[in-house]
Amino acid sequence: MSIVIAIDGPAAAGKGTLARRLAAELGFDYLDTGLIYRAVGMKLARAGQNPADVALAEQAAQSLSPDDLAAGDLRIDEAAQAASKVASIPGVRAALLDFQRKFAATPPGGKGAVLDGRDIGTVVCPEAGVKLFVTASVEKRAERRLKELQEKGLGAIYGTVLADMRERDERDTNRAVAPLVPAPDATVLDTSDLDADQAFAAALRIIGSKR
Ligand code: C5P
Repeated sequence: MSIVIAIDGPAAAGKGTLARRLAAELGFDYLDTGLIYRAVGMKLARAGQNPADVALAEQAAQSLSPDDLAAGDLRIDEAAQAASKVASIPGVRAALLDFQRKFAATPPGGKGAVLDGRDIGTVVCPEAGVKLFVTASVEKRAERRLKELQEKGLGAIYGTVLADMRERDERDTNRAVAPLVPAPDATVLDTSDLDADQAFAAALRIIGSKR
C-alpha cells in the first residue's frame, strides 16, 4: 500500500510549496488537486460560459483530459474564482473523485503520494496516514498573494486581493458538499508566523511523529 500524505487548507496558506517540498524530500509523487478544479472552471470561462452552470460544469468535469491540466492560464485569479464556483457543484466533485483516489492508491513512482487541496483528508483519502491542515490568517495570506502578483509584474491592490480571498474562503467553507474543514484527525499547522523553511521543518516533525 502506498503512503498518502493529505494536505488541506485555504488559498495561499503555503500548502502547495510545502506539498511539493515534502514530495521531493520523501521521493513521493505530488498531485495539486486545485489544478483539476481550475482546469474545469477555465474550460467554461474560456468559452464565455458561466462556471456556476451545473450541467455545463458537470459535462466539463466528465470530459477533462490531461491536455486541459497543462493549459497555461490556470494560475490566474479568474481561474481560482471559476474553480471555486465549479467546486461547489456535487456532480463536478463526484466526477473528479476517481482520478484523485487512483493517483493516491497507485502513484506513478509507487512509493507514496502527497495530495493537496480542500477535502483530501475528509473525502478523497480519509484513510491517509498523515493529514495536515495548513492555514494562516486571511490578512497574511492576502499579503503573500499580493507579493506573488507583484513579483510577476502584475499590478494588484491589497484591498482587492483581500476581498477576493475572503470571497473564496467563504464559498469553500460554506458549500454543502466537501466544505473546507480540518479532518478530525488532522494536525493543524498555522504558517502565519512561519517562513517556508520553518513550515517545512514543522511538517517533517509532524510526519515523523506519525510514521
Ligand atoms: O488550491 P487552489 O487555490 O488551486 O484551488 C482552487 C479552488 O478549487 C479552491 O478555491 C476550491 O474551491 C477548489 N478546490 C476544491 N477541492 C480541492 C482543491 C481545490 O474544492 N481538493
